[in-house]
Amino acid sequence: MVSERNLSKNVCIIGAGPSGLVAARELRKEGHNVVVFEQNHEVGGQWLYQPKVEHEDPLGSSNVLKVHSSIYASLRLTSPREIMGFTDFPFVVKKGRDPRRFPGHKELLLYLQDFCEYFGLREMIRFNTTVEYVGMLDYPEFGKDLRWIVKSKEKEAEERVEEVFDAVVVATGHYSQPRLPSIKGMDAWRRKQMHSHIYRVPEPFRNEVVVVVGNSLSGQDIGMELVDVAKEIHLSAKSLDVSEGLSKVISKHQNLHLHPQIDSLHEDGRVLFVDGTSIVADTIIYCTGYSYSFPFLDTKGMVIVDDDRVGPLYEHTFPPSLAPSLSFVGIPRKLIGFPFFESQAKWIAQLLSGKRTLPSWDEMMQSIKEFYRSREVDGIPKHNTHDLANFEYCDKYADYIGFPHLEEWRKELCLSVLRNADINLDTYRDSYDDSEMLQEAYQSPHFAHLGPETF
Ligand SMILES: Cc1cc2nc3c(=O)[nH]c(=O)nc-3n(C[C@H](O)[C@H](O)[C@H](O)COP(=O)(O)OP(=O)(O)OC[C@H]3O[C@@H](n4cnc5c(N)ncnc54)[C@H](O)[C@@H]3O)c2cc1C
Repeated sequence: MVSERNLSKNVCIIGAGPSGLVAARELRKEGHNVVVFEQNHEVGGQWLYQPKVEHEDPLGSSNVLKVHSSIYASLRLTSPREIMGFTDFPFVVKKGRDPRRFPGHKELLLYLQDFCEYFGLREMIRFNTTVEYVGMLDYPEFGKDLRWIVKSKEKEAEERVEEVFDAVVVATGHYSQPRLPSIKGMDAWRRKQMHSHIYRVPEPFRNEVVVVVGNSLSGQDIGMELVDVAKEIHLSAKSLDVSEGLSKVISKHQNLHLHPQIDSLHEDGRVLFVDGTSIVADTIIYCTGYSYSFPFLDTKGMVIVDDDRVGPLYEHTFPPSLAPSLSFVGIPRKLIGFPFFESQAKWIAQLLSGKRTLPSWDEMMQSIKEFYRSREVDGIPKHNTHDLANFEYCDKYADYIGFPHLEEWRKELCLSVLRNADINLDTYRDSYDDSEMLQEAYQSPHFAHLGPETF
C-alpha cells in the first residue's frame, strides 16, 4: 500500500558491504538520517580481501570472528560483470583495470568504491567501528514506535558508545561464519584441519595430501588450484554424481580424485570414506559453506537462527513483530544479488518513511508459514530456507515497491553461465558463447545511456 506520509527516521545500518551501501543510498534518498557502522577500515564487505588470517581460528569455531572476508587470492567472479551491477550503476570495464567479464575480486571492490564515491556515501560511514550490541529500548507495543539501543566500539577507543536509533538495518553478510560437518573423530584428528574461510593461496599445501570436503563453488575452485601444487587432492562430495564439468576436470588431472562423504577421521592421519576406501592426509579443507550469525543482536527471541533459517522473516526481510523498525538486507542466497539488495533497501526506506505499509502481523506470519510449508513439500532442508534460485521471486518482490523486474537479458545471461559452468568448469570464465545476449544487454537502458564508447 502507498501513502503520502513522509517521515524521516534515524537509522543505523550495520555493514558497508554491497547490501549496506545500497541501503545507505536508498534510505538517504528517502530522507532518513543514516549512520553506517563498518568494523573494517574500508567498504566492500566480502570483496575487501584480507590476506592475513593467522589469528583466525582455522575452523572458525568462535562466535566472534577476527576476519570477515572469505575471499581467496585467485578468486574470480562466478557471474559475468554485466549482470552484477545495481540497476542504475552498471559494472563496466574501466581503463587500466581488470577488463575481463569474470574479473578478479579486486575489480568488484573497485566497483563498490566507485559506487560509494559517486553517491557520496562515505560521509555516512563510521569505519573501524564494530556493533557489539543491538537491543530494544522498550518492549514492542502495538501502535508505539520501536527504538533501538546500539552499542558500538571504535577500534582505538577505550569505551563503547551507546546510541538510540529509530530503526536498524542488518547488512552484515553471511559468508564468514564457517558451517562445519559433524564427522566421527574430527576432534581427535591431530593434523591440519581448516575451513575455506581462511584459505588464501595454494603454496602452504605444496606436496601435501589434501582432502577438500564439499564440491560447490569454493570446493571446486580450491581443488582446481591445488592440482599444480599439492601431491594429491581428494575431493569428498555428498554425491558421486557430479557435473560433466567437474568430471572432465578430474579426468584431466592424475592427482585429483573424487570420493564419497567421509565416514571418520583417525589419529594416524587416516581419512575413511563411507565406501570403505581410505587415504592418509596432511590437511583437510572444509568447503562446506557458511552459517547465518548475528552475535550482536538481542531481539528477546523474536528473531532466531535455527539450522540456518533466520526467522520468522516476512519476505526474508522483516521480522513481523519488529517490522519495519528492524530489517535485514542480503539474507537470500542464489539470486542475482545486487539488484535484489537494492529492491530490499528501497522497500525498507519507503516503509520507514510511511510511504508504504506492511500487511498485518497475522498476514505476514501466515505468508511465512505458507512459505515454510511449500519448502517442506518440495523436500528442501531447513538449512536451505534462504536459497531461492528463483527469478520469479525477485519479480514478485519487486512488485511490492514498483521496482523494475529483472531484465530478461540478466536472467538469460545468468542461466547461460550456469549451463556453461556445468559443462566447462575450468574454462567457463574465459570461453563463452553468449554474444547475442550480450548485445541485447548493451542495448538495454541499463547500459545504453553510457554510449557505445564504453564497451
Ligand atoms: C568465496 C566467495 C565467493 C563469492 N562469489 C560471488 C560472486 O561471484 N558473485 C556474487 O554476486 N556474490 C558472490 N559472493 C557472495 C558475496 O558475499 C556477496 O556478493 C556480497 O558480498 C554480499 O554483500 P553483503 O553486503 O550482504 O555482505 P558482506 O559483503 O559480507 O558485507 C557485510 C559487511 O558487514 C560488516 N560487519 C559485519 N558485522 C559487523 C558488525 N558487528 N559491526 C560492523 N560491521 C559489521 C563486515 O565487515 C562487512 O563489511 C561470494 C562470497 C564468497 C565468500
